[in-house]
Amino acid sequence: RDSEDMEDDGRKKRRRTGDVGLVVEHYNARPDVGVSQRQESPIIGLKSFNNWVKSVLITRFAHPALVADSEARGSLRGRVLDIGCGKGGDLTKWSKARIREYVGIDIAAISVEQARLRHMSLRGGPRFAASFFALDCYEHDLHDGLPPALLARPFDVVSMQFCMHYAFESEKKARCMLKNVADNLRSGGIFIGTIPDSTQLMDRLDSLPPNAEELSWGNSVYKVRFEDRAHRPLFGHRYWFFLRDAVDDVPEYVVQWDNFIKLAAEYGLRCVYKKEFHQVFEEHHTHPEFGPLLERMKVVDADGESQMDEDQWEAANIYVAFAFEKR
Ligand code: SAM
Repeated sequence: RDSEDMEDDGRKKRRRTGDVGLVVEHYNARPDVGVSQRQESPIIGLKSFNNWVKSVLITRFAHPALVADSEARGSLRGRVLDIGCGKGGDLTKWSKARIREYVGIDIAAISVEQARLRHMSLRGGPRFAASFFALDCYEHDLHDGLPPALLARPFDVVSMQFCMHYAFESEKKARCMLKNVADNLRSGGIFIGTIPDSTQLMDRLDSLPPNAEELSWGNSVYKVRFEDRAHRPLFGHRYWFFLRDAVDDVPEYVVQWDNFIKLAAEYGLRCVYKKEFHQVFEEHHTHPEFGPLLERMKVVDADGESQMDEDQWEAANIYVAFAFEKR
């Protein structure tokens, strides 16, 4: 299970090994497919649903923080820091939020380049300033990789989508991640994210038969596999995750929710929202704005039929969405 990846910090090349190497290698290797090819994914319904949940989170929690900033300084809306931005999958959502500036950071350098290109080729041309950086945000202070001018003023919103759990490999990494979030968020600013649901992971692990040969479960779309039933550390509680056409058996870490809440509080971050993805759907599918968005984002067809089969719908609820406010 050893893996290698070169980290280039501009002065020297360092070998990146172990789980982080596997994660970087995995995300760098995933092809950046265009819009039409994306529609052919066998889990396109689930991918569209995940995008819809992120849009709900952005509109409901990030918009107010961005608008508050614009009222303070004129017509233009605020600044967004996207940690673990990947290939820039949320750039269109931020464009629709009419933000003024976006900074995207990811450990996977190839993904970062793809995000940069995606920003330049946004439909109608980019309508906001954006800069992109390759950096391990769980090992380094952001000042180690970003120009000081970019960090001189705090951001209105920090977003971490489907990526924060990788920080829970150790307490040191989780603290480094939270410091990067809190240090760069203005007071009253919003931190939004999506992570696997620890309660559900532990419940499923507990419900496996005592004599189970493999500590795993899943369906045609996803698979979760633990290595140990009894050892459940607060940090470094590892499992292997597979999601069809998205994640190929990559090591991830349980984000024990109460532990995360306690740790976040130390950095002045207070939880204002936490819901399973199914609950996000229940809460918003009849909403006058988010209901019609389900069809526009192709989660349902023109007749309101879901584009997800049962297996995709089950896989969707692995995750929870959250929002924190910086005091
Ligand atoms: N946020 C994007 C989205 O929602 O489409 C990408 C999500 S992808 C599932 C997870 C991302 O987390 C990958 O691009 C990966 O490279 C990034 N990541 C993992 N560890 C990281 C770290 N230590 N620092 C920065 N990014 C990291």
